[in-house]
Amino acid sequence: MTPYRPYPFHWVPAEGARHAIADQRPAGGWPEGETITVLCGSEVAADNSELAWLWDTCPDCNAGRTCLAEVPMPPAVSAR
Ligand SMILES: [Zn+2]
Repeated sequence: MTPYRPYPFHWVPAEGARHAIADQRPAGGWPEGETITVLCGSEVAADNSELAWLWDTCPDCNAGRTCLAEVPMPPAVSAR
């Protein structure tokens, strides 16, 4: 059974920014210091500290995320 994943990415704070990652999130999150490849193409060390979540979103990851999550809008239903 596949766990429900609303979007094909997760946010993970690493090296001073909040990056997006397309990998399946391990239970409990990525281990501190784990090297991960994020959407902007960087290899970064995951950071699990609470403060890390206050970092700014990586603009490149944010752009990539928007593409990944892009879902075609259903045609507008006109009111009858
Ligand atoms: Zn990034």
